[in-house]
This record gives sequence, structure tokens and C-alpha cells, in this order.
Amino acid sequence: MLRYDLHSHSTASDGTVSPSELVRHAAAQGVDVLALTDHDVTTGLAEAEQAAAATGVTLVAGVEISVTWVHQLLHIVGLGIDPHNDDLQRGLAGLRDFRIWRAEEMGRRLEKKGIADAYAGARALAKGPSIGRTHFARFLMAEGKAKHMQDAFDKYMKRGKPGYVPGKWASLSEAVGWIRAAGGQAVIAHPARYSLSAGRFRDLLSEFKALGGEALEVISGSHPHGASASLANYARRYELLASVGSDYHGPGQSYNELGRLPDLPAGCVPVWAEWDLRPGQAAPLTR
Ligand code: AMP
Ligand code: MN
Ligand code: MN
Ligand code: MN
Repeated sequence: MLRYDLHSHSTASDGTVSPSELVRHAAAQGVDVLALTDHDVTTGLAEAEQAAAATGVTLVAGVEISVTWVHQLLHIVGLGIDPHNDDLQRGLAGLRDFRIWRAEEMGRRLEKKGIADAYAGARALAKGPSIGRTHFARFLMAEGKAKHMQDAFDKYMKRGKPGYVPGKWASLSEAVGWIRAAGGQAVIAHPARYSLSAGRFRDLLSEFKALGGEALEVISGSHPHGASASLANYARRYELLASVGSDYHGPGQSYNELGRLPDLPAGCVPVWAEWDLRPGQAAPLTR
């Protein structure tokens, strides 16, 4: 049995380890198949691919796309994407432009709350092209304005707080469309983390499925304990495949260790059921 971890981050977005450190850590953790899924960016994949070839880890080219759906922020993971696809890259570039404007706006809003230079501070912590709330949270912790990550989000970064700048990310249809154009499989990331009513969640699954979305993250390192049984039922009912991912962001960060995930509940069809994997691969999967 291969060990899969299909959701992780590097310094290309808000992870704290470089793509090659991530891959080496995955190898040390006994992960056989790793997906790097940075927020709205794929620039970490080339370095991760090289490291994967050197360690025997099979790398799946991935991305985690920010989506606004019915006023809700959702994350859609793409697995087995061709990172050179123009539609995908144009879409991601637009989201990163929005991230930069949003980060400047977060800086202005925090300034009004008496916190100076937050944009410059977050910019310095963001090693890659995808700046986000996590970088601001780390800056606020370093400044002694927050005790830990959760505290920083609770005080400054959550909806309604100065660091939460509402705005429009990709639509669900765009995100799934870009992933499909790039030959990948679209996966709803950490579905148990959204505050959606049961009815709204069913609407999301129907719409996602109709757009060509393929899978649900039934196991996520960022889920509350016990979320997987009900998600496995939804996956079965909507004939969606099941994915697993730690959402690893680096040592000592929130969420799980790489590759330390429970097995999928019985009856789930894994998202990798029809993958044809080769060691070191970072190209679209042959399906
Ligand atoms: P952004 O994409 O810039 O809006 O930032 C979203 C990221 O912030 C997520 O991918 C997580 O890494 C992190 N995040 C969101 N909510 C929390 C939370 N409550 N505690 C810790 N990290 C969080
Ligand atoms: Mn993140
Ligand atoms: Mn996410
Ligand atoms: Mn993530």
C-alpha cells in the first residue's frame, strides 16, 4: 500500500519550508506520493520535481485555488495539472494580482488600528509570489501582537477583523475550468471547514459535480476529528472520488504532520484509483 499525501504547502505560498525541503521531509515521513498544492501558484513545482526525482517520492503537480462561492471563501485543489497550461496560469496570475492589492489594503487597515508596517513585514516573510493572511499572522506574532497563529487569526485575520479584506476570488466554474483545461482533477479542499448549512453543502456538491469536479477531501489534516464518516457518505452519494491531504505548512505550523493520515473509510473510491504513476513525476497523470 502506497502512502499518499495530496495537500501541502511550500514557501512558494504560505508554507515555511522550501519545495525541496518539503519533498525530502515527505520521503523521511514515508510518503510515497506527494502533491504540492500551493495557494494560487505553481512556481514551487519545478524545484519539488527535481527533489522528488532524487528521493524516489512521486510528485503530483497540484495547486489550491481560492474561490468565492455564494459569499463564501472555498478552496479547490487541482491534482495532476499541467503547470504550463495558459488558461490555468492566466487565472492564477489574476488571483495573485488580487492578493497583492489585498495585502496592501490589509496593511492600510492594520495601520489604522495602530499596527505600523504590516505590509512590509508580511512581504519580507513571504518568500514566494503568493502573499496571504498567514504571512501577516506570522508578522503579528513576531511583533508580539498575537500569541500564536490561531490567536492572530482570531484577533486580526478572520472575517470582520481588520486583516480580513473581502473581495472576489475565482468563481467555482472558473477554478474547475482552469484545472480541467490543465488536465487535472478538481477536488473540494477541507470541506468540513466551511460554515455551510447542509442544504448549501448539497448545492455545492451538485454544482461542483455538474461543472466536472471530481473529488472531495474526505480526510484532511485540518478537519475536526470525526468529520470523515459523513464526508465519505457524501462522496458516495454524489459519486465523487475521495482525496486525502495533511494541508502541511511546515514544522510547528497548524494542521497535521506530512503523511500522518488515517485510511479512507470503506466504500470510498480514492482519487488516485486510475492514476498511472511514475517515480519523480510532475506531469499530468495519465488516466
Ligand atoms: P489566504 O489564502 O491568504 O486568505 O489565507 C488562508 C490561509 O490562512 C489558509 O490556507 C491557512 O493556511 C491559514 N488559515 C486560515 N484560517 C486559519 C486559522 N483559523 N488558523 C490558522 N491558520 C489559518
Ligand atoms: Mn495556507
Ligand atoms: Mn485551504
Ligand atoms: Mn492548503
